[in-house]
Amino acid sequence: MIQTIAELQHKISSYSAPDQERVLAAARQSEQLHEGQYRDSGEPYFIHPLQVAEILIDMKLDAATVASALLHDVLEDTIMTRADLKRQFGREVDNLVNGVTKIAVVKAQNKSVQESETIRKMLLAMVKDVRVILIKLADKLHNMRTLRYKQGPRQREIAQETLDIYAPLAGRLGISWLKDELEDLALKHLHPDIYRSIKEQVSEKRQQRANYLNRIKSAINKAAQREGVPVVVESRAKHFYSIYLKMKRYGKEIGEIYDLLGIRILCDTTNQCYQILGLVHRLWPPIEGRFKDYIAMPKTNQYQSLHTSVLGFDGKMIEIQIRTHEMHRTAEFGVAAHWLYKRGLTREQVQPADLEIMHRVRDLKDARITSGEFLEEIKREILRDSIYVFTPKGDAIQLPKGATAIDFAYHIHTEVGHHTTGAKADGSIIPLKEPLKNTQVIEILTNPNAHPHLNWLRYAHTSRARSKIRAWLNKNDETLIINQSIVARKQDQTAKHPEPQKTPQHKGPSKETSDILDRHKVEIRVGKERNLMIHFAQCCTPRTGDDIVGYVSRGRGIIIHKRECKSLRSIPDVEERTIEVEWETVSPKTTHRFRVVARPTNDLFSEIEGAVRKIHGHLIEGRIDESGPNTIDASFTLEVERRQDLRKIAKSIRAIPVVMSLHDLPGQ
Ligand code: MN
Repeated sequence: MIQTIAELQHKISSYSAPDQERVLAAARQSEQLHEGQYRDSGEPYFIHPLQVAEILIDMKLDAATVASALLHDVLEDTIMTRADLKRQFGREVDNLVNGVTKIAVVKAQNKSVQESETIRKMLLAMVKDVRVILIKLADKLHNMRTLRYKQGPRQREIAQETLDIYAPLAGRLGISWLKDELEDLALKHLHPDIYRSIKEQVSEKRQQRANYLNRIKSAINKAAQREGVPVVVESRAKHFYSIYLKMKRYGKEIGEIYDLLGIRILCDTTNQCYQILGLVHRLWPPIEGRFKDYIAMPKTNQYQSLHTSVLGFDGKMIEIQIRTHEMHRTAEFGVAAHWLYKRGLTREQVQPADLEIMHRVRDLKDARITSGEFLEEIKREILRDSIYVFTPKGDAIQLPKGATAIDFAYHIHTEVGHHTTGAKADGSIIPLKEPLKNTQVIEILTNPNAHPHLNWLRYAHTSRARSKIRAWLNKNDETLIINQSIVARKQDQTAKHPEPQKTPQHKGPSKETSDILDRHKVEIRVGKERNLMIHFAQCCTPRTGDDIVGYVSRGRGIIIHKRECKSLRSIPDVEERTIEVEWETVSPKTTHRFRVVARPTNDLFSEIEGAVRKIHGHLIEGRIDESGPNTIDASFTLEVERRQDLRKIAKSIRAIPVVMSLHDLPGQ
């Protein structure tokens, strides 16, 4: 690693003359500003920005990024002001440096708020200019490489943060070498014993493994030559953290994990990739379930490759990756390859703006959440693994692990989300809150009269779905507007202007919120599930408290019948399709049926629903009994918490222009 400006000058000799001058000016200024400051290692502080810049030069980034890396700590740690920085180095450098600078206004006792605010600011800056995060990642990498000089507890904190945020971020940006190194360094400080034992094992068998891999390589080379496909075969060292994850996943010791053997085959074209795959599978039997085609279905960071595992010589498992040279560059450099492209060193494969993570951060930017929530979302949603599910037409949809049918519906379209009544996975009805599984075919059942419910907020996993649901509820449901927005606004303000005594807490919903959640429970429970698609049978019209059973219909969810219902018993397959259901008894509510006569209209029930909701009631069910050229005869069931609200509701329904008359129906 470089130590001096002279070495830096040598390192940037391939940059243009003005670029070199720009970088050197930044270096000289930085050295002067940090003069007299020292790192925990005892070295002059300037070594840090210098070596951060070196990492970015190795990534072949542009002069503005390298200059900003040299200056990345001057706003935080020296007398340099933003105005001076901008005057001397221009707007571009100023923006980049400011993007990685900690938020300073927050008082020290709110450390976690400060940290999450800082990360939010940095990620939002990243959306505007991805180089911000590249500088931050290089900064992290250098700090991790020199972490041994920090105090013990602080070491662990920094290592954990790296593992939680920065390594996954590097992964999402497709910079695999950086992700791997950050993970290995974090492991080294979090679990030093495990790290050491993996290291020993790996180095102990090094020679033996090298010999074995050479046999494998030459077999591949020979076969490829016979087919006339030019290939480069590399053995690749698995990074320690991935070995550690495997040990954890399979509960095995390092000695029991064979597949430390990795081979990478590089070729020129996509067709050759598949050709080589066939060739490899003819050489050694593939292991079932291990083949992955990331060429046809690239990862969200635009990684492309074929993965397979085979039983090689002596029955040893070998993991093989097959990709073109171009794909390999994308895999190694990820988003940073964009600057290789600008410098004519590669073809453009990754456009920063196209990366899934950019969309996600942008979505979050518009959601009204505190910085703590923002960070939780980032960790939970963006940085975790994804699943793929399919639409009935076969389109693949990528969602974060844990996503539900609600998330799927909102992913398809906001209007689909808003009118969801139920969902099917591979043809069977699933509860809306059930996490979807990889490769399921998901079908969303909708109804024009359906609308979001407050408890959807608990089932939705993605911030996109949650913010759409919240927006709908805020717009349409007055009870919620008041309570929800007060809760949200309170937290926002506390986070932005924290007062010493009032550190915001983000542990679950506030009392206020959970009270609202409780009041809105739906009325039927099947086992432990509440949010199933429910219809009330029209033959026997069950009411609250009736002895009821559910009939699992094909495509219409669960139909609730009275237990003694005669028409239910006459259904041929009733035996195997009946399930036990109960009334939900959390909040005692009153249901009531009305008959209404109205002038012809398409949205009678949504009008009625609006009128009912205004008085805090819920429309449970409605049907058209007769409809003629001049009138519609309909009946509906609603539910209120207070009986005395019924009169107000009736009044509010009568006020609907198309409603001609309204009558109580007997049977309460
Ligand atoms: Mn730094």
